Formats: sequence, C-alpha cells, structure tokens
Amino acid sequence: MALIVQKYGGTSMGSVERIEHVASKVAKFRAEGHQVVVVVSAMSGETDRLLKMAKSINPRGSSREFDQIAATGEQVTIGLLALALEKAGVKARSYTGPQVAIRTDTSHMKARIQSIDTERLRADCEAGITPVVAGFQGVSPDGSTATLGRGGSDTTGVALAAALKADECQIYTDVDGVYTTDPRVEPKARRLDKITFEEMLELASLGSKVLQIRSVEFAGKYKVPLRVLSTFVDGPGTLITLDEESSVEDPLISGIAFNRDEAQLTVAGVPDRPGIAAAILGPIGDANIEIDMIVQNVGADGSTDFTFTVNRVDYDRAVEVARHTAQELGAKGVRTATDIVKVSLVGVGMRSHAGIASQMFKALAAEGINIQMISTSEIKISVVISEKYLELAVRTLHKSFGLEAGTT
Ligand code: ADP
Ligand code: ASP
Ligand code: MG
Repeated sequence: MALIVQKYGGTSMGSVERIEHVASKVAKFRAEGHQVVVVVSAMSGETDRLLKMAKSINPRGSSREFDQIAATGEQVTIGLLALALEKAGVKARSYTGPQVAIRTDTSHMKARIQSIDTERLRADCEAGITPVVAGFQGVSPDGSTATLGRGGSDTTGVALAAALKADECQIYTDVDGVYTTDPRVEPKARRLDKITFEEMLELASLGSKVLQIRSVEFAGKYKVPLRVLSTFVDGPGTLITLDEESSVEDPLISGIAFNRDEAQLTVAGVPDRPGIAAAILGPIGDANIEIDMIVQNVGADGSTDFTFTVNRVDYDRAVEVARHTAQELGAKGVRTATDIVKVSLVGVGMRSHAGIASQMFKALAAEGINIQMISTSEIKISVVISEKYLELAVRTLHKSFGLEAGTT
C-alpha cells in the first residue's frame, strides 16, 4: 500500500463526464489499497475565461483581486470531484488551498509555497477519506488567496507529495508522458520512458508547458518521485529521475522545447563604450522585467546594436523603458519584434559531445531558416528565429537528431 498524490489537469477535469472518469480512476487506486491525495486544476479554459473577465474590467487592477477571481476555477472542480467520488463509493472531502494551509509568500499571481500543514490530510487518509485539494492556490501571510502562476496545480501536487512524503506524485494530463517535443507540433514525437530532473527543468524553463517549471524544481529539491501519465490511456508514462546513468546508447538530445512567449528589443546605434550594457539593462531590471537572451553587435562605425528578449507580458513596459534609455544614450532608436520564437535543444549528452551546435545550425540553414540569436549552456542550445518557421524548425531538428518514434 502506497501513498500517492495524483494531480489531474484541466482537460482531465474538462466536463462532468471526465470528472466522473477521474473519480473512477481514483476509486480503482483506493480499491487496490492505496491512499490517494488528489489535486485538481480548474476545467480547461476556465482560468483563461476568469482572467479575461477580470481584465475586461480593469486590465491594470491589483493582482490580489485577480487571484481572488482566478482561484475560483479550482473551487468548483474540487467540489464536483468530491461529489463524483462519493457517488463512486469513495469517501472524499474537498479543500481549498487556504483550508489545508498551503501558505505562500505575498507575490500574487506567482506566489511561492512556503509551508503546508499536513495534519488534516494525514488524518483524512488515516480515516479512509480521500482529500481533494484545489491546485494553483494558497494563502498569503495576510490571509489573502494567492495563486502560484499559470500551470501552478502541478506545483501544488509536487509540494503536497513532498510534504506528505508520498511514494509518488503522478501528474495526469492529456498526453501519456513527456515527449521528445510537443506532439501537437511534431506528431512523430516519441514518449520518453524517463528523463532526468535536470533535463526536465531545462525543457520546462525553455517553454515545454507539460510541467510547470516550479513543480520540477520542487520535485528535484525534495526528491519527489514524479511521473507524467495520461488520464485517458493506461500506460507507464514518463518517470522524472535523479539518476543520469549514461550509456553509449543514450541519445545526445532528449528533447526540443520552444517558447512563443518572448519578444525582442534592439536598441540601435548605441555608442560603444564601457557601461552601455548596464545602462540599457539596468532600468529594465529596475522595472522588474526579466531578460532572457542578449546579443551585442559592434558595427563598422563603432556603434553598437544591443538586442535582448523579454517575456511578451512585459513587452509594452520594456519598450517604454528602452525608448527612454535610448534617448538618454543618444542611440538611433529601438526596433522591436514580437513575431519571434525560441527553439531549444536539451540533453545531458551534450556535456560530452562536441558538434551539436554546428549540426543544429546546419540543419536550420538547409531549410533556409535564419538564426537571429543564440545562447548555450552545458545541456542546452537555444536559437531565436522567425515565428513563421517554428513548426519547420522543430520538425527539422527532430529528424536531424534522430528523435522520431522507432529510431531508438
Ligand atoms: P494540464 O491541463 O493537464 O496541466 P497542459 O496543457 O498544461 O495539461 O500540459 C499538457 C500539454 O503539454 C500537452 O497537451 C502537450 O501539447 C504539451 N507539451 C508541450 N511540450 C510537451 C512535451 N515535451 N511532452 C509532452 N507534452 C508536451
Ligand atoms: N488552472 C490554472 C491554470 O490554468 C492552474 C493549472 O491548471 O495548473 O493555469
Ligand atoms: Mg498544466
């Protein structure tokens, strides 16, 4: 008998019928003698709907109120699933994040979990009751509801599994595991039996939204055995593992991620002198805007074009700040682009193999895809390209690195 935390995502909770299907899955695990703590998301599309409604009233409204609204999606699904479980003969009780004391910091809409009281959940499990906990939400120090950022139910699941020292955290979703790339873009993508935390962390932070990045960080830090599985098809899913037992047959590349959420800004014609990078990026940082990639080019006339990317949600503010700085520095102006994507190759195998970058660049060049920016780390290579080439680039790289189903 094991203690399992099961998280069911938006599609899995997408209708009354699907919720009843989830209840039957939980009932099966209970019947096998396992203790189960369930974490659920809102019905798919619901959080978007709620936030859109909030923004239509006051787009720059306070994030506390956005959280108050966004968190209601999960409050509906916990109740519905508890009812469905009761109907299936499983004793269940639903809880909001605040009710099980998932305590967070004060950063609304991207709050971090600081502590969880597990007493109530443990007592329920011991009494044969299956707790159903709302994902994505907690309570801030002043008693306000705070949400954990989009996709945050994954993090609730992992955090509960860590706090309860569960035997496994199972993330049930609409794909049957982690694939070599998003199967919606490359239908030939292959399911991975396992992937290391380090690789999963890179994939998540480079745009693979199958797991929220913080959930992977949490699982790695607290060594929570984590598995991604399908709600709709039975199978082993993908295990996220600590061990990196490399063997000669291991692929060099584990996966390809892409991120459509970035925008590019170029401060053009900046005088090339010490302190320019700080002068441009300092005010961006002061505005609390995160910078991702940076490229600086010195032209023949000695002036510099300074290019960087930010998340699209910060784009308008970043442009405002950069225009102001450009004026102060006597630069020629600010060019912007939102029709860009970042495509990244990830694999621990890169550590011990040279030539991956050149293979990547050659493959893209053969398709006439121009690379605008490049950044590398030990286990990843990212390029920024025009958005219109996204599918072509992903499929080309997927093939070039032999990631297709049936190739290993
Ligand atoms: P949930 O609502 O269950 O949390 P998400 O939509 O957040 O589900 O995550 C599942 C989706 O992640 C899949 O439908 C798939 O399109 C996408 N995805 C992106 N990259 C990958 C990948 N490498 N492997 C599997 N799925 C991926
Ligand atoms: N419902 C939230 C969202 O859509 C949290 C989640 O689904 O994980 O972002
Ligand atoms: Mg998700």
